[in-house]
Amino acid sequence: MSPQDARLVDASGRTGIPFVVSGPSGVGKSTLLRRVLARDSGIAFCVSHTTRVPRGGERNGEDYHFVDDPAFDRGVEEGRFLEWAVYQGNRYGTSREAVEGPTRKGIDLILEVEVQGARQLRDRLPGAVFVFVLSPSLKCLEEHLRERKSDSEEAIRERLARAREEVREVRRYDYVVVNDDLDRAVEDLIHVIEACRMVRARVVPMLRDRFDFG
Ligand code: 5GP
Repeated sequence: MSPQDARLVDASGRTGIPFVVSGPSGVGKSTLLRRVLARDSGIAFCVSHTTRVPRGGERNGEDYHFVDDPAFDRGVEEGRFLEWAVYQGNRYGTSREAVEGPTRKGIDLILEVEVQGARQLRDRLPGAVFVFVLSPSLKCLEEHLRERKSDSEEAIRERLARAREEVREVRRYDYVVVNDDLDRAVEDLIHVIEACRMVRARVVPMLRDRFDFG
């Protein structure tokens, strides 16, 4: 964002757009999102809470807020989560604070959320844009999961079964990015984000004091 854009945002009271991104495990979502976040300074990653243990290299407060079960329970009881879901035995949730803080300041956000969580957000996050990341085929997804060599045969089968279910949710999403070629997918997602920033219903109210739109 240029300084001039920042002025426009402040003066107009622009609220940030939440982009809810889902897609099967193994589709390359994290790499894709990392690349998009590095390219666009007007968008930030929404840091979720999870009860799963950190993987090597993951940082608390950056990749996730890593919490134990009692802390997650308290968050649920206190209504701090906009959505939460269980995924492979661990709980994941998006806190209201993580979304409302940045969007109030006009910062767009990427929420990486699996399909059950995304369903909950449809009613609770008006104005959110839903993006589904797909592999070119189920076969490609299977090959990718095997290449990672991080899962047992049983885990791969489970992930594929889950992917088949998740893909059925695609009809509820606004946009689909097919991650065939990573560079291309990065451009595609950036185009989606940029187009959403130009939707008339969002832009016109910010310019009302400069034009007579009738
Ligand atoms: P991982 O353990 O591989 O980081 O994430 C497992 C799954 O949980 C991924 O599909 C990821 O998109 C999803 N996930 C991450 N954060 C959240 C969240 O806040 N809420 C929900 N519902 N899913 C999440």
